Amino acid sequence: MRLSTITNWAYGATVILTLASGTVMLMASGAEQRERAAVEQRAAFDQMTATLEEDTFRQSEQARSFAITGDPTHVIAYRRERAEERSVEQRVAHVRDAGANLSELAALKQALHWADALADEQEAAIKAAEKGDGETARRILFGDEYGRELDRIGSQIGKFQYMLDQRTETAVRQATDTARQWRFMSELMLGATALLFLCVLYFILKQRILRPVVRLSDVVTRLAAQDFAAIPPELPQVDEIGDMAQAVRIFRENGLERQRLEQERDADRITRDQLSRMTQRLQGCDSIGDLVEVVGRFAPEIAPGFAGRLYIQDMRRNAMVQACAWLEPHQSQGHEFAPSACWALRRGQTHKPTGELIDIPCEHLGGEVAIATICIPLTAQGESIGLLYFEQPEGVTADQISRTEKYLEMLAENIGLALSNLRLRDVLRQMAMADPLTGLANRRLFDAVFKEQIASAEGRNEPMACLMVDIDHFKRFNDDHGHDAGDAVLKAVGAVLNEALREKDCAFRLGGEEFVLLMPGFTLDQALDRARTVQQKVQDLRVEHRGEELGLITASFGLAAFPDHGRAETLLRTADAALLRAKSQGRDRIVTATVRDAASHVA
Ligand code: GH3
Ligand code: MG
Ligand code: MG
Repeated sequence: MRLSTITNWAYGATVILTLASGTVMLMASGAEQRERAAVEQRAAFDQMTATLEEDTFRQSEQARSFAITGDPTHVIAYRRERAEERSVEQRVAHVRDAGANLSELAALKQALHWADALADEQEAAIKAAEKGDGETARRILFGDEYGRELDRIGSQIGKFQYMLDQRTETAVRQATDTARQWRFMSELMLGATALLFLCVLYFILKQRILRPVVRLSDVVTRLAAQDFAAIPPELPQVDEIGDMAQAVRIFRENGLERQRLEQERDADRITRDQLSRMTQRLQGCDSIGDLVEVVGRFAPEIAPGFAGRLYIQDMRRNAMVQACAWLEPHQSQGHEFAPSACWALRRGQTHKPTGELIDIPCEHLGGEVAIATICIPLTAQGESIGLLYFEQPEGVTADQISRTEKYLEMLAENIGLALSNLRLRDVLRQMAMADPLTGLANRRLFDAVFKEQIASAEGRNEPMACLMVDIDHFKRFNDDHGHDAGDAVLKAVGAVLNEALREKDCAFRLGGEEFVLLMPGFTLDQALDRARTVQQKVQDLRVEHRGEELGLITASFGLAAFPDHGRAETLLRTADAALLRAKSQGRDRIVTATVRDAASHVA
């Protein structure tokens, strides 16, 4: 019930009680008036009867005085009074009008009749006295009979008076009682009104206003301090306080929603920061290994709870090979799979076999798929070069999942780009390290590999051989058959060197028609055998160019070995010195370095 309704009801009840108590007060005042009227009536009756008695006795005294004194003034006064005296009926009517009842009137009438009879006797006595018969007059007026008559009238008037007294006294008492009762009622109602008023005031103030307002104020204070654990009281009352409680509830719900949005925004910002940091780290990666480490570290931060794997395509074997995994994924257990086993790679789009739209699970997931999975291809120039595989955690809302998926796409885009850059860099590096004509490693790679191998050989004190190769009179091929013919000879000699390699060996084209063969672990003798084989194979070469045989190809060889010819780092120069000697000694031969060769460049 609304406070205004309660107030209206209380107001109505108070007005009704006030009106009732006013009515009761009016009734009490009426009773008091009746009481006053009864008292006044009694006083009037008292006076009336007193006059009646006095008149009777005075007239009797006037008649008696005349009988005794013979003074005519007594007669005159007597006659005047008698003439003024109204008849019995008139006087009875007067008393009846004043409110006397029938028995009282009967008693009064009797007294008046007896008074009239007595007046007749007085008249007879006065007449006798006037005739000079004072004796008769005195006998009549002072006789026993007359005296008894007079007493009887007196006692009859007394009886009338007694009856009046009795009745008026009862009327006064009743009127007084009634007035008192009404007054009591009126006071009672006033008290009830005041009590009702106080009760309503107490109820409204304490129960409906003070207590809820104190509770609401406490909640509002906590909500203002961002303490949304404060729950507004349930106030089912339909009034202004109920409206306030409802408003506070809405305020709290809005606050909670705002807090949730802020948390989402913060989480969003943190994730974007992580993404941008990951992108920066990816840009700094020098190798696929670096990239794998960065992904393994950042992926679980960017998509919390999402277990996953990173696959990178092995171009040579056309297989997706797992590079790393995080948060222990359950599906897609094998280390590698064919790209055709994944629908995301087949279609070049994200693939989610579960969720709102049912789809075909990928083959690489392996058997029954009990969890929601996401495959996102890593693409570069429209080609799939890898795969990000995720497993959706349980107990996450659809909203969170769709938000995280957005980041997963961005993650895949960044990783794909970084992976493609690294691949491109690898290709460029390989191109920079390889000689395009012969396919052998070039001088730049030789410098790196040679440094590494001499360090390793010296460190482990293992033998190592270095064979310098220079085609004899190569210039002639160019001069006689053209530059392309020279290139064909270079290719053929390069192929011979390439075939002669063991797994550990490396062949390089140092420039022009000069080659070098590094043979770690080979002693001088072993290397010499290898050099002879190569020499023979070069001699056996038959190169044709534009249908024309280019003639015999020979080469000169300079061989040096560690530790036979001093320090490993001087091997190349020692071999070069041996080669020079081979040239000077007539070409198409193998010259093994001597200690002098080794010492020649040291000096
Ligand atoms: P020698 O027996 O003393 O080694 O004589 P040579 O003619 O083999 O050596 P020389 O240094 O006089 O000539 C090397 C020539 O190789 C000079 C250069 O024009 C040629 N040449 C260098 N690089 C290439 C190449 O890539 N292709 C072709 N066709 N010729 C090249
Ligand atoms: Mg040369
Ligand atoms: Mg040459």
